[in-house]
Amino acid sequence: MTHYPGNLFVVAAPSGAGKSSLVKALMQLDSRVQPSISHTTREPRGQEKHGREYFFVSAQDFQSLIEENAFLEWASVHDHLYGTSKKTIQERIAQGGDVILEIDFQGAVQIKKLFDNAVLIFILPPSLEELKARLERRGEDTAAVIEVRLQNAEKEMKQSKAFDFVIINEMFETALFDLKTIVHSQRLKFEAQRRARSDIFSALQIP
Ligand code: 5GP
Repeated sequence: MTHYPGNLFVVAAPSGAGKSSLVKALMQLDSRVQPSISHTTREPRGQEKHGREYFFVSAQDFQSLIEENAFLEWASVHDHLYGTSKKTIQERIAQGGDVILEIDFQGAVQIKKLFDNAVLIFILPPSLEELKARLERRGEDTAAVIEVRLQNAEKEMKQSKAFDFVIINEMFETALFDLKTIVHSQRLKFEAQRRARSDIFSALQIP
């Protein structure tokens, strides 16, 4: 499962680093990048809809999916289970599409083992103080939950070593530019260009 026509981008970050906003903004600018919709056992929040942000399933259904081998990877994150569906990703990248996964670092490491040319991107906040301030501003979590998230963040950020790229999300627009640059540079790689522009390569007699 190492070679496929599409690109697989995997973005991880501690909670509050701005991962979802960056990925959402990228997808608005670039329709070739499609998200993968994960399954989760957590409850929907706010305006979230089944089949849009996630497939919200019971713990029992999640377990059945594990047994059916339906996930490329799955992990327990903040006491809930999350898994990446095998079928949608394989179909899309086999057709030459680009897929972006927004998952935690444990999942990202698993994906790299399965797809060695997956591109792993870690998003860091500029400081722990700023991360705390962002979590507080978001107003979604209690002080106790924020404390746990910050402790987890310190552990998670140490895992950024295993990633191919690091984006420091200090200024949103700069971080978005960085993300676009990573995506674009993957598409300029020799193999990607040869696949995408096979007419030109044949005309130029490049094998
Ligand atoms: P949230 O509940 O805030 O949407 O997500 C919590 C964490 O789980 C985030 O870091 C998110 O990226 C991660 N996550 C979402 N889907 C998956 C998945 O399919 N696999 C893994 N390993 N992590 C996921």
